[in-house]
Amino acid sequence: MGNIKIGLEIHMHLRTKEKLFCTCKIPEQNSPINTTICERCTGQPGAKPMLPNKTAIAHVIKLALIFNSSITKNTYFQRKHYTWPDMPTGFQRTISGGHIAPNGIGGSFKGIELEELHIEEDPAAWDPVTGEINYNRSGFPLAEIVTKPQFTSTEQLRDWLEELILVSKYLKALNEEYGIKSDVNVSIEESDYQRVEIKNVSSITNIVKAAEAEIARQRECVSKGEPIKQETRRYNDELDETQFMRSKEDAQDYMFLPEPDLPNLIIDDKWIAELKASLPELPEQKRQRYAAYSLSKEDIEVLVANAYLTQLFEHALEQKPNPKEVGLFLRREVPRVLNYHHEDMHTLEEKNIKEELSNLLELLGSDKISYTTAQKLLEKLYDEKFDIKAYVEENNLLQVQDTALIEELLRKALREAPKAVEDFKNGNDKALNFIVGIVMRETKGTAKPQVVNEILAKVIQEF
Ligand SMILES: [Zn+2]
Repeated sequence: MGNIKIGLEIHMHLRTKEKLFCTCKIPEQNSPINTTICERCTGQPGAKPMLPNKTAIAHVIKLALIFNSSITKNTYFQRKHYTWPDMPTGFQRTISGGHIAPNGIGGSFKGIELEELHIEEDPAAWDPVTGEINYNRSGFPLAEIVTKPQFTSTEQLRDWLEELILVSKYLKALNEEYGIKSDVNVSIEESDYQRVEIKNVSSITNIVKAAEAEIARQRECVSKGEPIKQETRRYNDELDETQFMRSKEDAQDYMFLPEPDLPNLIIDDKWIAELKASLPELPEQKRQRYAAYSLSKEDIEVLVANAYLTQLFEHALEQKPNPKEVGLFLRREVPRVLNYHHEDMHTLEEKNIKEELSNLLELLGSDKISYTTAQKLLEKLYDEKFDIKAYVEENNLLQVQDTALIEELLRKALREAPKAVEDFKNGNDKALNFIVGIVMRETKGTAKPQVVNEILAKVIQEF
């Protein structure tokens, strides 16, 4: 089979409090229809846009900095004209196409080169079945990211999109509730890379599935001797197939015109420098840094993929504890407790127990409490917030540092079990496991099993 080429035009919903050209609040996805609207975002006659939302522009510039794109310092919004029920003004405001330079030109991300990057407003949502138009979404700030058609497999496409989403979360640039939607262009070598575009696919899963379905369709066409036509299609996720929308001959002329109601968008060097200085450490840098703590690749990935776990881990590291033990605890025990309750990380964040969790990690990482104790405390903390340090002291949960006490408990247990000692001497290595168990029980799980085993190895010589 021949090679494939995939390219993307991604629309990322930017994380802001208000819309791009008015002060309407960004609605929740399930907000009642037409409740966060005003004369501006519904395109009433005479209503003019306000100056663009500065946070939205900052997100786009930060993305351009991450991609190493060349940033356009003086540009302007254009009106992109088309007639569609979701667009009451008859045009969309955008910094692309027509005669102007987009906000960012060129650059690359994770090995894929970019054509450009720009900001624009989202149209309203039109339901072709009911005819209902919901203007809540109208004026939502979007970043459009256009890649070159350089993806050569759908696995690469998935990995790349996951990393883009993760980076955008780190930047706090992505509205996670709305996520991304993307136009996906797909072509195969067998048709001399005749380009077919699939419009408006939401979610990483569907983008990947749409590309796979389209590759399969094109290969089938070629095998039947049918030509691949340049056309626009849509993805039907219920049938898992792409469907014809329109041919390229119907390509629209958008009649781009400068938006007369908005001044030029000037991005000065000082602001760019400030934004650059504010960029967070990125996932890739974190992965490299965490690798020094002898955590496995999978363990690191679980931590890095979650901003909340990352913050807890970083905070714990400041206390200089045992990073490996803390990392493993966060990576294993937090998801375990959440799975048990059928909840996700957001629930944990909402519990507002970051300080308590940090204290818990500090005690664990500095060997003051055992892993088992930490597990139990985490479970308790999930149910109710309490003062970890006070609770540990009141309930004598501090790890037994007293090796003399452990020795004494071990001698007593060994004296009472001569048979086990004899079995051990006769080569049964496991014969003494229950002795360790006795000591753990006597110390209410506050002794460290490794320490008990070390002392046992010494004490057994006397028997
Ligand atoms: Zn509005």
